[in-house]
Amino acid sequence: MLSERLNNAYNAQIKNELNSAYIYLGMAAYFDSHNLPGFAHWMRAQAEEEMEHGMKFYHFVFERGGNVALAALDEPSVQYESPMAAFKAAYAHEQFISESINHLYRLAEEEHDYASRPLLHWFIEEQVEEEANARGIVEQLEMVAGSKTGIFMLDRQLAKRE
Ligand code: MG
Repeated sequence: MLSERLNNAYNAQIKNELNSAYIYLGMAAYFDSHNLPGFAHWMRAQAEEEMEHGMKFYHFVFERGGNVALAALDEPSVQYESPMAAFKAAYAHEQFISESINHLYRLAEEEHDYASRPLLHWFIEEQVEEEANARGIVEQLEMVAGSKTGIFMLDRQLAKRE
């Protein structure tokens, strides 16, 4: 059984993950509106993945005899100054999410909730990947330095995401 404190923290994380989906959908809308279908595809795939993350926490809360509460989502931006601005925001957001997972882990340890460990270990590893992916694209955008040809080529590359 989850403690109330941990249950509340998991519910907050469901919101964080669904909020992530919404933020990335907003970024997808920005890219779609600028005729960058590869970037948009990458962001839509990212949004779907975030929904799955939210559902992992959702199922876990019920499995542990807790109660799911769903908070209101924040309105995401659908406008960015540039692809770089969007990906820098995505990278910063993933760093925030990593911190929220670390917070959950600390809390679970404080509550001696050992059943949380496998789930949170999965998320800790996932966040290493999420940060690396976002940072990698920021670095590639730095390489092309706003060149239209470079952006076009990156768009073709990002279209290949599974
Ligand atoms: Mg996530």
